[in-house]
Amino acid sequence: MAEIQIRDKRFSLFLSENEILEGIKNVAQNIRPDLENKDPLFICVLNGAFMFASDLIRQLDFPCELSFIRLKSYESTKSGGKIKEVFGLIEAIEDRHVVILEDIIDTGYTVYDLKEKFSEKKPASLRIATLLFKPEALQLAVIPDYVAIEIPNKFIVGYGLDYEGHGRNLRDIYKICD
Ligand code: 5GP
Ligand code: MG
Repeated sequence: MAEIQIRDKRFSLFLSENEILEGIKNVAQNIRPDLENKDPLFICVLNGAFMFASDLIRQLDFPCELSFIRLKSYESTKSGGKIKEVFGLIEAIEDRHVVILEDIIDTGYTVYDLKEKFSEKKPASLRIATLLFKPEALQLAVIPDYVAIEIPNKFIVGYGLDYEGHGRNLRDIYKICD
């Protein structure tokens, strides 16, 4: 479907399931030489990154762990809010090689904050892998280590990402119509 309606907004097809998977395969290939002998711990940031984590982890054929966290922001509605709390991390990350899995980096505030919080726990290394990256929207100097697909500064939904809670189930990614 080239155009869809979610709530009050129209979205048009932007990235197909195949293009997304190609981007994820590239990320897996780049992660391999860095981490294949290090038993890395991948930490998926819920909700948005669940599909990315699921597809990425199945592209990796070396020992690794996957865990999940949820964030509570001070300003929960807007991108760019500071993180108040991280829920759900039960694994000890001290001396582990950690890769945070994010759905999208927009202003960079979330990832910046996460990096700060995780660094305090003294991991052996800390990397960021993101499905999508909007370089034009970036406000802080956080360069992700692995990016599946760079996109322009437009609101998108699908493949785990939502608009008002909807659209996470879409297999492709859609961009908001101007
Ligand atoms: P940042 O802190 O980098 O500005 O924003 C990160 C968070 O904002 C993402 O994890 C995501 O939850 C949300 N976000 C940013 N851009 C988009 C977008 O285009 N679509 C959706 N659905 N969420 C977005
Ligand atoms: Mg997110």
